Amino acid sequence: MHMFANRSYRKSNRTKKVHFKISELAYGISAEILQSSEVDHRQRLSTELLDELCDLARIDIVNVEISSAKQHHRRSKGRVSMRQYGYYKPDVRYIYITNHTAVRGQPLAAKTFLNTLLHEWMHHYDTHKLKINSMHTKGFYLRLGQLEKNLR
Ligand SMILES: [Zn+2]
Repeated sequence: MHMFANRSYRKSNRTKKVHFKISELAYGISAEILQSSEVDHRQRLSTELLDELCDLARIDIVNVEISSAKQHHRRSKGRVSMRQYGYYKPDVRYIYITNHTAVRGQPLAAKTFLNTLLHEWMHHYDTHKLKINSMHTKGFYLRLGQLEKNLR
């Protein structure tokens, strides 16, 4: 493993919590997201929530786009074998999330949507706060779980 990747992995894995406290504002926006379904509404709320989280974490803001396109998927033997709700591009500080499921084209369940948004934002946090190559370590999922829990 490359030296930098190894350092990123260790730091990601041992950082089990985010270092900031959730504000009433973030909590309120999150509660509103859990009542939402429509793409424009989710776009506005997502921008507000991520702006607030970046403020709390004291990192650069991230651009977020919520799309009404169906999520990308690949079919094998008639079943969805891969699902991609969203992604984060660190070089341009950009998060993309599709608001619709692959098969039925319905809006993502609110909890799934919020979890996806926070997942992608955690990659931004890793990149700008921890200053590591973000990856899916056990520590990453512990931090994400803590953030999700605190927002509910
Ligand atoms: Zn990820």
